[in-house]
Amino acid sequence: MVDTIERLTREASCCVSCALATTRTQVVVGEGAVPCDLMIIGEGPGAREDELGRPFVGRSGALLDRLIHEELGRARDQTYIANVVKCRPPNNRDPLPDEMDACAPWLERQLALVAPRVILLLGRTAVGRVLRVKESLTSLRGTVHPLAGSAVAIPTYHPAYALRGGAARLTEMRVDFARARLVLLEGGDAKA
Ligand code: URA
Repeated sequence: MVDTIERLTREASCCVSCALATTRTQVVVGEGAVPCDLMIIGEGPGAREDELGRPFVGRSGALLDRLIHEELGRARDQTYIANVVKCRPPNNRDPLPDEMDACAPWLERQLALVAPRVILLLGRTAVGRVLRVKESLTSLRGTVHPLAGSAVAIPTYHPAYALRGGAARLTEMRVDFARARLVLLEGGDAKA
């Protein structure tokens, strides 16, 4: 059976694979262009995302949209945006390992369908999950990580962390987004 983003979205929207299904308002599957050279992966929906059913639509989303526009030179709908977990963890706690495990097949299918060349990983949850590493985000950001095929992952801060961290953290995030743009433009891997 050929997978499609419509099929995946339909199926994920009624997922009950973990306990988050009992507290969510709706599943926030992801949105954007498919296939797409650029995929952005965050941690999990917050209150506003849970309410609207779309990823990154709160304060973090406003910063993300700005960085996509200013550093990547494109619009949000010229990317594909998703999260490690598709349902809001209560009180915005970190997703639990078994919740991330239960949700992993959706993200794997998204990755296969979007087939990105560059994946921007926002925050330590997304970085740890996709790269399967335990190092701190501080030690990982600033580098480009080869994945299967010719794809690469670029770890960066979560927008919420940058919003709390002032100008210096935001500048570092801009550098990471600009590096992603370079990799996309050059077709190389622009390793740090
Ligand atoms: N934070 C995330 O990690 N994802 C969202 O969709 C919103 C906020």
